[in-house]
Amino acid sequence: MAFEGLAERLQAVMQKLRGKGKVTEADVKEAMREVRLALLEADVNFKVVKSFVNRVKERAIGQEVLQSLTPGQQVIKVVNEELTELMGGEQSKLAKSNRPPTVIMMVGLQGAGKTTTTGKLARFLTKQNHRPLLVAGDVYRPAAIRQLQVLGEQLETPVFSLGDKEDPVKIAEQGIAHAKENNHDYVIIDTAGRLHIDESMMDELKAIREKVSPDEILLVVDAMTGQDAVNVAESFNNEMGLTGVVLTKLDGDTRGGAALSVKAVTDCPIKFVGMGEKTDALEPFFPDRMASRILG
Ligand code: GDP
Repeated sequence: MAFEGLAERLQAVMQKLRGKGKVTEADVKEAMREVRLALLEADVNFKVVKSFVNRVKERAIGQEVLQSLTPGQQVIKVVNEELTELMGGEQSKLAKSNRPPTVIMMVGLQGAGKTTTTGKLARFLTKQNHRPLLVAGDVYRPAAIRQLQVLGEQLETPVFSLGDKEDPVKIAEQGIAHAKENNHDYVIIDTAGRLHIDESMMDELKAIREKVSPDEILLVVDAMTGQDAVNVAESFNNEMGLTGVVLTKLDGDTRGGAALSVKAVTDCPIKFVGMGEKTDALEPFFPDRMASRILG
């Protein structure tokens, strides 16, 4: 399970605090030393860890906390609130254009789960009575278009494709025109990924962005890759300006580094998490629920 090590360690620290009738400044400092180590071991970005621990200390060592009737509980509450804040605070919802269709552009490196997530998102929207259209814009990866078409058939969601010989900008543009003509209120464009970030991929993505002005640019990253995922998010955000991140493979045993760092490092909220390979394994991301899950 994801975050198992981190959750276990943080819960042990919180357990020690919970029982105490009196909590001293030294107790808080000792607890925060352990929290710091646990976060670093979970592969959370070291700058993020440092400012997180400092914020918690500053708040927790305050008079109201230590002199309250339940100081241990109050310190835990501060940790919970700061963890929630670290992951974005409020839930960040998917955009909805007031001039439909809402255009969502999916970007990411190969293997992150972009095409799968595109299908999952279509299912998520269909469940909410929307009428998404999928657009097959990944013309380089062999079988990507077919993969999307198979997903579309499974989900009974139409897929717009011009094959793999056309320019992806033209595909995106015509896909949106097709959506307008056919009353689709969401268009989800699957774009090409590469094994690594390179200029030609970014140029192509930027060209699509310029042409279609998407309401959402969602980056799909693999949570299992930890700080690499955060670095990928930072690069994509600097190059293209992301509106959100989808963190996939949270059903695996990821340590937690990406989930806890990506918002703080890039300022892009995590909007969804992938919890498996099936098309229903996509969940909106709630920072407060995730914080409570980690702290037990
Ligand atoms: P793309 O190259 O980014 O389009 O990646 P794909 O969508 O083809 O996904 C790559 C692999 O990751 C496939 O085997 C997917 O089934 C798998 N995958 C995608 N999302 C998840 C997830 O949330 N959990 C798990 N366990 N596997 C996932």
